[in-house]
Amino acid sequence: MKRREFIAKSILAGSGIYLASILADIFGRDVLDIAYAKSKYPSKLTPARFWIEDSNGNSSCTLCPNGCHTEGEYGICRSRIKKNGKFFTEAYNQIAAIHDDPIEKAPLYHFMPGSRTVCMAAAGCNARCKYCQNWQLSQESPSNVKNDEITPEKAVQLTKERGFDCIGFSYTEPMTYMEYVIDTFEAAHAQNIKTYVASAAYVNRTPFKQLSSVCDAFALALKGFDEKFYQDMVGIRMNRVLDILVYAKELGCHLEVVNLIVPTYNDDVSKIGEMAKWIVKELGDDTPLHFLRFYPKFKLSNLPPTPISTMEVARKESIEAGLKYVYLGNAPGHEGNSTYCPSCGKVVIGRIGFRVVQNNISNGKCKFCGAEIPGILDKITLDDFESRKNPMKKIRKKK
Ligand code: SF4
Repeated sequence: MKRREFIAKSILAGSGIYLASILADIFGRDVLDIAYAKSKYPSKLTPARFWIEDSNGNSSCTLCPNGCHTEGEYGICRSRIKKNGKFFTEAYNQIAAIHDDPIEKAPLYHFMPGSRTVCMAAAGCNARCKYCQNWQLSQESPSNVKNDEITPEKAVQLTKERGFDCIGFSYTEPMTYMEYVIDTFEAAHAQNIKTYVASAAYVNRTPFKQLSSVCDAFALALKGFDEKFYQDMVGIRMNRVLDILVYAKELGCHLEVVNLIVPTYNDDVSKIGEMAKWIVKELGDDTPLHFLRFYPKFKLSNLPPTPISTMEVARKESIEAGLKYVYLGNAPGHEGNSTYCPSCGKVVIGRIGFRVVQNNISNGKCKFCGAEIPGILDKITLDDFESRKNPMKKIRKKK
């Protein structure tokens, strides 16, 4: 390789993997060997599902629209690898984050409100959000972060031991470690534990359909309503995301839509109105929409947090567009935390931040006027806030 070519490639190099490919060109070593040498932890490869080989022996990943196919390299998601024509995942059983979360953190507000969940993540993501709130995990390979080895059965056992009803995946991109998510959810259903996923919805229809057969609820992001915003700020194609949202609806999934408002990038009120109208038309006016407040992170750490006034305008615009359940997240104590009956306007599920503090739903209906409230609302758990503040009070009450 000529020096000029080397310099040009070096300038273009946006990642360690690309640099590794340059070194491989020079020294003739396998790109993965070099990538592994840079990895902090030993790589554990598990055969992947969701890939095809054509009649000429060329194989490519079919999990997401990126369609990665380069031999000896990680896919864009950084967790799947093509080696000797076959695909492997580095993420199986490799859990980088595991937390006890309220289901409201997903966010899911119409699915077993007040439930505690075990929420997990493996490293990797097939998008490149410049404002990613979990970039330390999402923008790394599993072999580059510290993991706990947790099998699907062990994950379910941990959920049962805590007495929780739900297990889910969030923080990074669960679609990119689909095999582990599906196996965990199958094990969870065998134990009557409910399942959920929070995702950017950049996945192909066939794997999504398979996931939907074992996933009880989806919190899917619609990060903006502009193809250019998606390409510049998220690194994926919006039309493919819209297709999955519509497909989720067709499949009858429990779906809540999530939009994080980034100041000056996707806070244009007319675009927000267009997005809300699209949701009404394609997904239905009873689809919950969550606006989340942005906090300065990753490559947009120079921006201020989203002003509450911007969030309020977005909520108002979406309600005027016809949506019945529009929420404000990362804004604890705001009236937009709660669920209101679209018929009588009274609070049916009162929340302070993620805490469920009021339940006025009976048999899935508003207690005041009998209007039906959509969702999986057969179990609503009130936050035991008072007794947590003063544990003695609970004991005294019991006497
Ligand atoms: S899941 Fe990963 S390897 Fe597969 S196509 Fe998407 S980015 Fe590429």
